[in-house]
Amino acid sequence: MNKPPLLVSACLLGQPVRYDGHGKAMPSPLLFELARRYQLLSICPECQGGLPTPRPAAEISGGDGGDGGDVLDGRARVITQTGQDVSRAFIDGARQALDSAIRHGCRQALLKANSPSCGNRQIHSGRFDQQLQPGSGVTAALLQGHGISVFNENEMDRLLLTKPQP
Ligand code: SF4
Repeated sequence: MNKPPLLVSACLLGQPVRYDGHGKAMPSPLLFELARRYQLLSICPECQGGLPTPRPAAEISGGDGGDGGDVLDGRARVITQTGQDVSRAFIDGARQALDSAIRHGCRQALLKANSPSCGNRQIHSGRFDQQLQPGSGVTAALLQGHGISVFNENEMDRLLLTKPQP
């Protein structure tokens, strides 16, 4: 039986692609279970958008409540801790992730929580003050806007309870 495809943040698979040069691998039993059920499609939108690793931390800056959807609409920007506007790279990476999902017929994604690219429920405030606010990262917003269900690593129970969509 063909396994359904699942987009997965590369850092959750242990790949050292985060801004700080490290990964954030999920526990091995969970990774094993995911690989048993799904064809895993590793993505790192920030790398695919052309940003180096390591790289300065970045947050979405758009006044009150700006999130990834606002970045896609040009109403907010992604700014690094050093003040550089990296919105273009974030949007390019998001589009590549969406292209990959469409190409593989992917209906679900498991993405890293709280990331300005991959976060599906919360993102940082844009003030680099460690505070979180409701909202999606740029890639999560683009995928969700195209009907792809996005889960984070704290929602594994929900994902594994969901019947894999072919
Ligand atoms: S959270 Fe997303 S963009 Fe950030 S390192 Fe992980 S895969 Fe790459």
